[in-house]
Amino acid sequence: MNRVRLLVFNAVLCVLDYRVPAGMTLEFGAVVLAPLGPRQIVGIVWEAERLPGAEVADSKLRPLLQVLPVPPLSAPLRRLIEWTADYYCAPIQAVARMTLPGSAALKGGGTTTEYRLSDLEPKRMTPQRADAIDALEGEQASIRELAAIADVSEGVLRGMVGAGLLEPVTVDLDRPYPRALPDFAVPELSADQQTAADLFVAAVTNGGFAPFLLDGVTGSGKTECYFEAIAAAIADGKQVLVLLPEIALTENFLRRFEARFGTPPVLWHSSLKASERRRAWRAISSGEAQVVVGARSALFLPYARLGLLVVDEAHEVSFKQDDGVRYNARDVAVIRARFEAVPVILASATPALESMQLAEAGVYRKIDLPARFGGASLPEISIVNLCKEEPERGRWLAPRMVAEMRARLEKGEQSLLFLNRRGYAPLTLCRHCGYRFQCPNCTAWLVEHRFSARLACHHCGHEVPVPDACPECATPDCLVACGPGVERIADEVAELMPEARVAMATSDTLNTPERIGTFVEMAEAGLIDVVVGTQLVTKGYHFPELTLVGVVDADLGLEGGDLRAGERSYQLIAQVAGRAGRGEKPGEVLIQTRHPEAAVIAALASGDRDAFYAAEAESRRDAGAPPFGRWAAIIISSENEAEARDAARAIGAARPNLPDIAIHGPAPAPMSLLRGRYRYRLLINARRSSELQRVIRAWLDPLRFPQGVRVAVDIDPYSFV
Ligand code: ADP
Ligand code: ZN
Repeated sequence: MNRVRLLVFNAVLCVLDYRVPAGMTLEFGAVVLAPLGPRQIVGIVWEAERLPGAEVADSKLRPLLQVLPVPPLSAPLRRLIEWTADYYCAPIQAVARMTLPGSAALKGGGTTTEYRLSDLEPKRMTPQRADAIDALEGEQASIRELAAIADVSEGVLRGMVGAGLLEPVTVDLDRPYPRALPDFAVPELSADQQTAADLFVAAVTNGGFAPFLLDGVTGSGKTECYFEAIAAAIADGKQVLVLLPEIALTENFLRRFEARFGTPPVLWHSSLKASERRRAWRAISSGEAQVVVGARSALFLPYARLGLLVVDEAHEVSFKQDDGVRYNARDVAVIRARFEAVPVILASATPALESMQLAEAGVYRKIDLPARFGGASLPEISIVNLCKEEPERGRWLAPRMVAEMRARLEKGEQSLLFLNRRGYAPLTLCRHCGYRFQCPNCTAWLVEHRFSARLACHHCGHEVPVPDACPECATPDCLVACGPGVERIADEVAELMPEARVAMATSDTLNTPERIGTFVEMAEAGLIDVVVGTQLVTKGYHFPELTLVGVVDADLGLEGGDLRAGERSYQLIAQVAGRAGRGEKPGEVLIQTRHPEAAVIAALASGDRDAFYAAEAESRRDAGAPPFGRWAAIIISSENEAEARDAARAIGAARPNLPDIAIHGPAPAPMSLLRGRYRYRLLINARRSSELQRVIRAWLDPLRFPQGVRVAVDIDPYSFV
């Protein structure tokens, strides 16, 4: 090659051609440094015919500067990047960026310096330093990261370095990870588990694309089955990626993984420290990292020898990314497995309708684990009709729920109350004038958090202290909390059963691995009688003494009424119900509802999952909704309301007129103001066979908008706000 085409990370110029200087050898996928004006930029050498760009004469080309010392991106990964950009109508450079770490990590291994508190007694103590010392106990990180942890300026910390209060530590970026041992603790599998595990192991050994849907009831031991596939892969020297829907679940996963393989896996998520990130990325790209567990962002990393992909809790909505590149990690995982020619396992107790449909169509091989492991029975589910069994005034728990909780407390067993709403109350208003606390940046009420005595927006993070008087009419002590959040339910439990030890489990209380670890240990040791939690506690946990699950408000999830509301409610409640009776004692589930006749509730009560899926499928088919038809959304936003509206109108006016595509809108989004941006939406409903993406590109590409306007395309949307 004497000239090359680069994919570069620049929003405007994403394709640039360069000359290859004499003596430089290059392969496709190589990561290189190139000059751009006075600057140096990073680029990936790409097949020119696959990346359209302007033709530039040889004589005008500038020479590449350097090949960076990292392995080239493989052809399957380059195809995945192209596919993702194409399918999700995303800029290809934005997709490619997800594969690479920051530029520091590209420059090679070596060492970096981190800092930690020294043993030195401070001579001159300022309040800032005292606070910093408190906050930094046990931490070791870069100055910038420590500044964020301690909430002080980097200058304060540099001063502390100068005074010897913080000491430098040299960290080797390429220190190896301990090896996971495939035979460390091999479990004895049940017959069903063994059948599933054998199939997975054979698929890993044979190689080749093989998608599986592992459909096992809660507590069936799905993890143990795919652990056998992992063991086979690492015994073969191949790498494995396990995607989990949220970081909160990794703590539990790590413990189980370590028990099985003798050492924890390599972690990848957005809150890794810079040095951990560099170390993990380098081990992943060199092939040294055997098993990587991560959130969806781990999907695009350049694994050197991928042998297996697992998506656990594959039905989870959080695999869908709703900003930047709007992709669904579950779906892209299957595509990656296809390009890499390896097996992929989607595991769930409540698979998405889309996945079920693909299994039915024979695309996925479906493996069932119909029974719980170790003979535990599935919990008994009953309905509490709140219209007939009313809670006392000002309370949210029906008498039967309270009685069952008391019975558990007397027996030394645990109860779990589930309400998917953080904080104390979702709405606060003034009794005197009716004023409602609303977020200034979003179409949303402020949620009261008694714990921190603040009113907070769950969308943008805006917070104010709870005032003593109404800001509108100035009447003191006139604010009323409307509706319950988990904090309010926890209060109610504490009032009704003062002797019970109540723990709240939400992203506000369990926000660090340490806190999650402590919570799990306490629950397992029987130091907690009642857990009150949000969706955070619906998955992954296994508390043998937990025998009662109470769903406080089963109707909550159905309110929004979007395409998947029914399915999502079903999944959430089935998952949380699955926490009950996992040990030797049988479990019971009480579902509070005002709509016992709703399809979701009826299906949960009767345990007839197939009927529910069939009914859901039927209504989706009628609506031309996925998986039978296709949806896409166009979201227009701007800080300037008129600009957003004008852009939305312009897009509406340019709409194509096609027989197999229906276009709704533009209309103000249900969340018409979000983080200070005014929003409009269009919804596109297309036949399966339509060339949806091509149509959207041809429609939007010629349009030009003012600088502040953002136009996002959301293919297969999950959020309709
Ligand atoms: P699922 O993910 O299907 O809900 P889990 O994987 O959490 O189920 O398994 C349920 C419980 O049973 C876990 O505590 C797990 O350790 C245990 N278990 C499952 N299979 C086995 C096995 N073969 N041997 C020992 N324990 C098992
Ligand atoms: Zn807000």
